[in-house]
Amino acid sequence: MANDSADSSHIRAREASAGRDLVYPPAPVPLVVGVYDNHTHLEISDGTTPLSVAEQLDLASSVGVRGVIQVGTDVATSRWSAELAAREPRMLAAVAIHPNEAPELENAGTLDEALAVIDELAGRPRVVAIGETGLDFYRTAPEGRAAQFRSFEAHIEIAKRHGLALQIHDRDAHDEVVETLLRVGAPERTVFHCFSGGAELATLCAEHGWYLSFAGPVSFKNAATLREALDVAPRSLLLVETDAPYLTPTPHRGRPNAPYLLPHTLRAMADHLQTDVSVLAAQITSNTELVYGRWDAEPVVLTDTARDPRNSPAGGLA
Ligand SMILES: [Zn+2]
Repeated sequence: MANDSADSSHIRAREASAGRDLVYPPAPVPLVVGVYDNHTHLEISDGTTPLSVAEQLDLASSVGVRGVIQVGTDVATSRWSAELAAREPRMLAAVAIHPNEAPELENAGTLDEALAVIDELAGRPRVVAIGETGLDFYRTAPEGRAAQFRSFEAHIEIAKRHGLALQIHDRDAHDEVVETLLRVGAPERTVFHCFSGGAELATLCAEHGWYLSFAGPVSFKNAATLREALDVAPRSLLLVETDAPYLTPTPHRGRPNAPYLLPHTLRAMADHLQTDVSVLAAQITSNTELVYGRWDAEPVVLTDTARDPRNSPAGGLA
């Protein structure tokens, strides 16, 4: 969906829903030990006064959220993510066709073409993951599932061939996601983004060394099942994310989300685990760097093409 937002740093707008508070929440108390948001969508604007990408990253830095993985969901957003990450030290990129997009592309006869673009982007500097890909039986009707499976398997193959991490979107499809990973062979670093299972899936993840990335819902009052999963997950497999602008953590549920709100989710996890938030942050940061590498691992080379904002898909960071 195209968007005429006043802020040229976004390429989409979040759909309005009735009764939602559209004002960004205040910044939380800064973390002492920093963490990374390993899954966010900065290209989607939200709220009555959308924050630009640069504003979001600055706010994140000010509370100890040291960097983000910007995640693409189609060809346009994947390209945008890769191009921005190439010149923004606080950003790495993940590229993929979202499972809810795959059936539409398959119907239009363009899924293979789109997958070829993802394969090309996977080779770009600072693209560290293939995602989000996976299966979504909540939004996609049974007739779209064959395309989802085909797309998911193709993404797994791309991740393995490029030696990249895999970020999985699994909605109402735990068994089928696990079955697919075991059948075709999971990449060495596999992440369940916005982990939505219970203790049983968490135990399975632990068995196979798959990472569990928790988002805002782990802080929701009614999410006891997620906290049971957190209880049994090995600390060495924990990651944290916002999935912004969606899934804003307690106490700001329903308002626009952004990486600077990540400390709420981290603190909710530490509270539940009865551990010190800095100890948990240090563990998660180390896990994050093991999965994706370090944000400063590669020097950021600014070419003249990259410097010219007219050459960036959304007019640059400002
Ligand atoms: Zn996402």
